[in-house]
Amino acid sequence: MIPDSDLRLDPCADPVRVISALPDSDRVDKPEEACGVFGIYAPGQEVAKLTYFGLYALQHRGQESAGIATFQGRQLHEHRDMGLVSHVFNPEILQGLPGELAIGHTRYSTTGSSRRCNAQPVIVDTRLGQLALAHNGNLVNTTQLREYLVARGCEPTTTIDSELIALIIREEVNSGKDWVDATISACLLCVGAFSLTIATPDGIMAIRDPYGIRPLVLGIMPDHTSHYVVASETCALDIIGADYERDVKPGELLWITADGIRAIDWAPKAAPKLCIFEMIYFARPDSWVHEESLYSYRMRLGKQLAIESCQDADIVIGVPDSGIPAAIGFSEASGIPYAEGLIKNRYVGRTFIQPTQEMREAGIRMKLNPLKDVLKGKRVIVIDDSIVRGTTSRKLVKALRDAGATEIHMRISSPPVTHPCFYGIDTDTQDQLIAATKSVAEIAAQIGVDTLAYLSWDGMLSATNQNPNNFCSACFTGDYPVEIPDGLKKSKLMLEMGAIN
Ligand code: SF4
Repeated sequence: MIPDSDLRLDPCADPVRVISALPDSDRVDKPEEACGVFGIYAPGQEVAKLTYFGLYALQHRGQESAGIATFQGRQLHEHRDMGLVSHVFNPEILQGLPGELAIGHTRYSTTGSSRRCNAQPVIVDTRLGQLALAHNGNLVNTTQLREYLVARGCEPTTTIDSELIALIIREEVNSGKDWVDATISACLLCVGAFSLTIATPDGIMAIRDPYGIRPLVLGIMPDHTSHYVVASETCALDIIGADYERDVKPGELLWITADGIRAIDWAPKAAPKLCIFEMIYFARPDSWVHEESLYSYRMRLGKQLAIESCQDADIVIGVPDSGIPAAIGFSEASGIPYAEGLIKNRYVGRTFIQPTQEMREAGIRMKLNPLKDVLKGKRVIVIDDSIVRGTTSRKLVKALRDAGATEIHMRISSPPVTHPCFYGIDTDTQDQLIAATKSVAEIAAQIGVDTLAYLSWDGMLSATNQNPNNFCSACFTGDYPVEIPDGLKKSKLMLEMGAIN
């Protein structure tokens, strides 16, 4: 047994840099993504630099911290810190991360606070050498996993569920198993959503939970057919010139070493349940999921929305970025001209420098600025991908009216969000979700639009090219594919607990 003091995790000694306590008014009124993962096996190439670019492409999946771990022979090198990928790394730091293989992570915290000690990859020491792990998703049985570890004399040092997976793998390795068997044993204990990349001195692993709730894809470097890449999304393959090979299957483990790639179905068969919100909003529009272009899917959502709830108007605009393809689709199906009515300031993100109160009052304009000459005197259809709490929508509608729009008809390219997510997406507690407590007419009145309509659940699923049963859509229905333990449910399902009327 390796004592806990041997863990390579920082002892959370940097509590000053806590950035998660944003004022309520400053929180993004959208479900927030919970991490991007990347891994590469490419001896002879600059794996840290390639990982950096992969993480750069996955920045939208998490902006709180970033990290890379490489192996050069049996020597681990790692660097992680709070902030954007471009802030955390520079050429000197990347130069200090030599190796034949690497994994990387961008983080948005849904469990565990936003502190440097929770930045990933998580690193543990084992009898076979060190192991680095990057996780996208959320486990729902962390209480049992903690108890399991504590009963074996192993006390987790951070508040993140990802550490629990790494520690259980460590326990299994130290009990005599090899990397693959130890990882499978650990995954069999985990319940919830997990797409993992794992680096060891002997190779990298890519693993998806039995339902495949979070995405994970496999790519190959075209000039080096023994060089493999795994990533949350295909956009991270594109940026380094890797070719998409296939999705990592739900319940599959890939073991990539000098001997090539080995695919293992580690989990009992389950119906796939990819998060439908990845398709609608989270993943980049230039990414492909299950060989389906997300840009095209989002356009089809807009077309379907026009079929279901068209409205007389002068122009259709989209809320950047994810509302744009749906707005173009809506325009094509309705014949109402598409226009660019909102310009996004791409460089406003989570920052250590908080805006002043006066700047906060300006609200939405820090992120989205309306084009007055496009909007003035126009009846406008605004397409957005979702409404969570309604606070941003209200500010957006006011900004559009201030810019001269005479009518505002909001159309949402997904159904009303009525239930929280437990699988790695931050969607607030149920009482914070506006559609959980208000009718569509009440929401329209609250956000100040002339009319409001949502896409139907059938319309959302029928717009995919895939089997509609292969998606999780629990935040629209409350039908959770992986059972949520009661204690966890109580923390978020305030309505069912009678906390609000
Ligand atoms: S509950 Fe919603 S956000 Fe969470 S995985 Fe399911 S579809 Fe995605």
